[in-house]
Amino acid sequence: MENNGIKDIIRGVDFHFNKALGQNFITDANLLDAIVADSGINCDDTVVEIGTGAGTLTRAIAKVAKKVYSFEVDRNLQPVLALSLQGVDNAEVIFRDVLKMKDDELKSVVGDSFKVVANLPYYITTPLAMRFIESSLDVKSVTIMVQKEVALRFVAKPNTADYSAITLAIEMAGDAKITRNVSRNMFFPAPNVDSAVVRIDIDRTKYDIADHALFRRTVKAAFAMRRKTLVNNLMVGFSLSRADAENVLARADLAVGCRGEELSTEQFVALYKVLAEVTVN
Ligand code: SAM
Repeated sequence: MENNGIKDIIRGVDFHFNKALGQNFITDANLLDAIVADSGINCDDTVVEIGTGAGTLTRAIAKVAKKVYSFEVDRNLQPVLALSLQGVDNAEVIFRDVLKMKDDELKSVVGDSFKVVANLPYYITTPLAMRFIESSLDVKSVTIMVQKEVALRFVAKPNTADYSAITLAIEMAGDAKITRNVSRNMFFPAPNVDSAVVRIDIDRTKYDIADHALFRRTVKAAFAMRRKTLVNNLMVGFSLSRADAENVLARADLAVGCRGEELSTEQFVALYKVLAEVTVN
């Protein structure tokens, strides 16, 4: 089945797009192959795809991967997939919501080690990325289509408006890069926003963090009020006196007047380590 026949299949089985599930499909064969190339998948890889849709990306992944487990929540797509994935014997569609599966359960279905590829509704891209980035599973990489503005936050640098808690969460777990921008016109039907593909190569050993909850709390506090200084944000976020907050900054080798958005990842780690010593939970 050629991908340009997918629109005929969709019409032929009288499939109705579910807008609430973000059903905007990619049909362009060149783009599908390019996304697979971006993800760095090869014939040794097991791939977990989230959001099968009409199976166009599933098919492109299956051409290069050892095995694809593709998760979809909309069973109405079954007749479409029966046709679009005909003859593809290394792809398995599973009608379940991966966000509701625990690591052990997922592991029993797909195995321990895999790469993730996802083109999902935009409202779940961040929780989905975090679900794999912060899991105990051996996830090699996450290649995900996101709204362009979200992609910019994923890869932002300090001292920019896009630099935020999600940037730090991703930076802690791996290396992210935007591999391509994708115009809204490449989807069927076209959504209201442009997109970008982000690939995150997972490396959870980059930084020495024993207490991830405290690290997240540190970042959250630092970004809570972007116009306020870090001292003010730490006073609120950790119930510290001004003198104690200033002392924390001095011990972390940070300037008293600095703001959270100026800190590099290394400086956030230094700040977290001092807070780990001084905070009584
Ligand atoms: N991957 C296909 C493509 O590139 O053309 C489909 C993309 S479409 C943007 C997203 C798909 O994700 C839809 O088919 C939708 O039903 C499905 N979906 C929505 N929420 C989901 C979830 N929690 N788990 C798995 N699939 C989901």
